[in-house]
Amino acid sequence: MSNIAGKVVILTGASSGIGEATAKVLASKGAKLVLAARREERLVQLQKEIQNNGGHAIVKPTDVTSQTQMEDLAEYALNEFGKIDVLINNAGIMPQAFLFKKKIDEWDTMIDVNIKGVLYAIAAVLPSMREQKSGHILNLSSVAGHNIYPGGTVYCGTKHAVTAISEGLRQEEAMSGTNIRVTNISPGAVSSELLETTSDPESKAGLDEFYKSAIDADNIARAIAFAIEQPSDVAINEMIIRPTVQV
Ligand code: NDP
Repeated sequence: MSNIAGKVVILTGASSGIGEATAKVLASKGAKLVLAARREERLVQLQKEIQNNGGHAIVKPTDVTSQTQMEDLAEYALNEFGKIDVLINNAGIMPQAFLFKKKIDEWDTMIDVNIKGVLYAIAAVLPSMREQKSGHILNLSSVAGHNIYPGGTVYCGTKHAVTAISEGLRQEEAMSGTNIRVTNISPGAVSSELLETTSDPESKAGLDEFYKSAIDADNIARAIAFAIEQPSDVAINEMIIRPTVQV
């Protein structure tokens, strides 16, 4: 039996792309999934597919920018399943543009979703994980959480923040002896709906070109499963997964 069977997993951004693929892989390995995102109909469709394949999944429509909704999400998981073993902070958006274009609303939303959403989710699950003295938090950063490129300034800033949050959390929990593992996952170009969040035509054209070599979301899902299924005293802290041809 895999180390994933029976684990209760909260997964944000489960309605498409990497989140959807991860839900399917973890469900096939026996995880009990709590699927979160804003588009409820997508989540229900995914839940049905998982259940038809003999898996377990429940749905909780959630906007990660709302701290109250994140607290409700954790409470729902605890009420339904009695524990939270794994949190996957996957929800994210990537509206890219050069700074001079002053897409200030997009900066605000990106910071709210990509940074505050991650923090609110961590805040919501840490108390019960610390109490049970076990847990695993995986944050979807990016190659953009390690590198910086023109047009991606704010997105890179948010993903560098995610990388920093992962490492800070890792150190805090390691020194506290809580047995909480932290994994920072950094994908390169992956086929998903992410590019649709870029409204600037010039940036979108550049991204469309760059994403011609994108890999399937399933590859990231398998990496996430690999990190989760390690023995509890082994923590995979960082994974960078990108297309072989990505420079
Ligand atoms: P998708 O656009 O396919 O999925 C993004 C998910 O985030 C959706 O399920 C969306 O659901 C959810 N989401 C967006 N805003 C919110 C919100 N306010 N509240 C709750 N959920 C929200 O993109 P990917 O699957 O590619 O992205 C997943 C993660 O991977 C992101 O963090 C992204 O930055 C990261 N990543 C992706 C890469 C790629 O090339 N695809 C590369 C590196 C990192 P809904 O709209 O229903 O709320």
